[in-house]
Amino acid sequence: MVGRRLAILKMSSLMVTRSIYRYIGLVHGRLHRTLDGTIKTVTVSRHPDGKYFVSVLVDDGKANLESVPVDRAVGIDVGLTHFAITSDRSKFDNPTKFFVKRQRNLKRKQQKLSRKKKGSQNRKKARLAVAKLHSKIARCREDFLHKLSRKIVNENQVIAVENLNIKGRVKNHNLAKAISDVGWGMFCTMLKYKAESEGKQYIEIDGWFPSSKTCHVWLNRVDHLSLDVRAWTCKHCGTHHDRDVNAAINIRNEALRILALGTSASAWGGDVSLSGKTSVL
Ligand SMILES: [Zn+2]
Repeated sequence: MVGRRLAILKMSSLMVTRSIYRYIGLVHGRLHRTLDGTIKTVTVSRHPDGKYFVSVLVDDGKANLESVPVDRAVGIDVGLTHFAITSDRSKFDNPTKFFVKRQRNLKRKQQKLSRKKKGSQNRKKARLAVAKLHSKIARCREDFLHKLSRKIVNENQVIAVENLNIKGRVKNHNLAKAISDVGWGMFCTMLKYKAESEGKQYIEIDGWFPSSKTCHVWLNRVDHLSLDVRAWTCKHCGTHHDRDVNAAINIRNEALRILALGTSASAWGGDVSLSGKTSVL
């Protein structure tokens, strides 16, 4: 049965290749890594800048590992001043900073495009220039997210993030912009599949969990902490907290509590999703 299914898949990938031959002929490709195992699916996509991308899903025959003991756990918080802050106090710069120059360039190219006469050859050229730059920016951002998620998954067994309800945050215009700009959702997706393909735990803590407002030492909560407060001192234990690091530590600890309980019951009574399954209490 399995052999048969594979044969069909191979045939369909061949069919895709043939239909591409028909349209564009043979193309030079750049292979990013060697393919080790059985090819399961081949997906060909064409970006607006005219470049083709082929993604190949390969079965390497290795079974998913059983979950590993919790000896390295990390909590990751999304920040405003940084892209991500981890419970081991690492701060990763916001990638948009690197893209400011390109964004400006993009704006100039878009203005140029808007001035071209509709249907003209020059308009076509200007549109391709905009598409090329868009693709370039997207690829740079994806590259940044791939590298960072790879590093975090390599170094840890348990990866916990806050499940950001982005819609709920739209009220604050700048924060919404910052979140959408840096692709937090894409980052979490990468963490999840990278962790799970290695038998590691990826846990999302509900966004309503008061990670910023809770002292990770005493677990007491402050009533209010406005967004511009970057550091605060706990009245109970006197610990001076970096806002984002404290939040990341709370996210990690909450994930460890969930794992220790063996359920997705949150100590805070909120919703927690374990490996993508959400449970509502
Ligand atoms: Zn405290």
